[in-house]
Parts: sequence; structure tokens; C-alpha cells
Amino acid sequence: DMEHNARRNNEIIRLSENLEKMRLALKDDTERRAKLIMGISHDLRTPVAVIKGYTEAMADGMYSGPGEMEKALGTIAAKSEQLETMINTLISFVKLNQAEWQHQLKRQPLAPLIEDFARDAVTTGGLYKRTVETDVSIPDSLEVPYDTQLVQRALGNLFSNALRYTSEGDTISISARQDAGAVTIDIRDTGVGIDQKDIAQIFDMFYRGTSSRREVGMGVGLSVVKTIVDIHGWDIHVQSQKGMGSTFTITIPSGKH
Ligand code: ADP
Repeated sequence: DMEHNARRNNEIIRLSENLEKMRLALKDDTERRAKLIMGISHDLRTPVAVIKGYTEAMADGMYSGPGEMEKALGTIAAKSEQLETMINTLISFVKLNQAEWQHQLKRQPLAPLIEDFARDAVTTGGLYKRTVETDVSIPDSLEVPYDTQLVQRALGNLFSNALRYTSEGDTISISARQDAGAVTIDIRDTGVGIDQKDIAQIFDMFYRGTSSRREVGMGVGLSVVKTIVDIHGWDIHVQSQKGMGSTFTITIPSGKH
């Protein structure tokens, strides 16, 4: 009857709408993947080109003067190391995102992890001539489910960015506290800051801000941080102004402990 037919038609319309959505999503995904692969290949090609150039010059006997050979070999070693780091970063990022990769979220005290992180940051910051201020007040009794290695990696990435995007004499502040249940961890720096137009994208894989091109990097660090924060059901956001520094804030909602 008519009512039955109308319902059938609606279902068919809905089905074809969904198929169209799926097609667009897949197309988007293929394009995104192609872009990512282009990005990776480009970044890996740079050190390879340098290594190739130096080895060819060496084979042609271009380095005969005193110390020339050592200098060339030093460059080759440095570029090989850079390449290795890049490849390791990629491998660990892929592993992190594999669904079958089981992360052990173990319920344990939070304070020791943050305190160790803050202490190491003061030492490392000193080596790079940054002032590192810390203000950690997490109750000893607070327990949260987390994976120690992953959280250390997330905090480590945020701190190494704070180092890389500041200069000698700048200040990095690490603070952690619990108010109204939620825990917030802030990593603030007085460095170059982030352009407003970059902010929405900095957590994307391979995205590099306009003011960061002078630094060696692959645009992977913050997407690792975001993935780790997501795995735990926590939040992260950034507040920044170009030239005025940046503050990255991780929030552990009170429902998560
Ligand atoms: P990378 O630093 O290798 O480019 P990230 O994923 O760690 O990759 O960061 C993405 C971008 O976010 C950077 O290119 C930079 O523009 C910006 N950014 C991250 N941390 C900071 C910071 N502390 N200060 C200024 N800009 C930052």
C-alpha cells in the first residue's frame, strides 16, 4: 500500500544519502593520506640528499685537505642520526595509533609523575639557559588511571616544544593543581607564540606553524600529545599569541579519577 511504499522510498533515500557521505569521507581520507605521505617523503628526502651529496663528493676525491674528510663524515653522521630519529618518531606514532595496541591504564598516584617531570625540567631547562619555574600541588592521595610511559611522553613533548620555541633567558612555567575536582597541568612559555591562524591546526599530524620553520621538526610532537590525551579521556587546549608565548593546558576531568 501507499504508506508502505512511502516508507520504503524514505529508506532508499536515506541509504543513498549515507552512501554518498561514506564516499566523501573515503575520498577525504585518501586525499589526507596522500598528503601525509607526500609530507613524510619530503621531510625524509632532505637529509638523504645531503648524505648522497657528501658521499658522491667523497668518491670523487673532493676532500683532500686536512680535516676535510672528518668534517664531511661528521655531517654524514649527523644527517644519518636525524634520519633515524625521524623514522623512529614515525614508527612510534603509527604504533600509538594502532587499535590493537593495548595501553595499560593503571590506577596510581599522580603526584610523583608530575613532580619527577617538573624536577627533570628544571635540570634540562638550566642546560639550555631557560628559567624553569614549577608550582606543583597535587594531593598525595589523588589516584588516576594512566599509562606512565605515555603520559611522560606527552609531558616531555610539551616541554621540548617549550624549549625549542623559546630563546636563552626565556621562562618556562610548569604548574599543576586540583580545583573543584578537575586537575589541570599547565606548561607555559614566554617564547615565540603561535599565530592565530595556526592554532586550530597545530594538533594535526605533520602540521607545522608558520613561525616554526627555522626549527628542525616534523609536526608530529603535538599530534602524539593529543593522541595520548585522548587515550586517557583527558583534554588539552592552548592559549597563545604571536610573540607573547604559549600555554598548553591538560585537564583531567573529575570523572576520570
Ligand atoms: P614541530 O615542533 O615538529 O613542528 P609539533 O607537532 O610539536 O611539531 O608542533 C606543531 C606546531 O605547533 C609547531 O610547528 C609550532 O608552530 C607550534 N608549537 C608547538 N609548541 C609550541 C610552543 N611552545 N610555542 C610556539 N609554537 C609552538
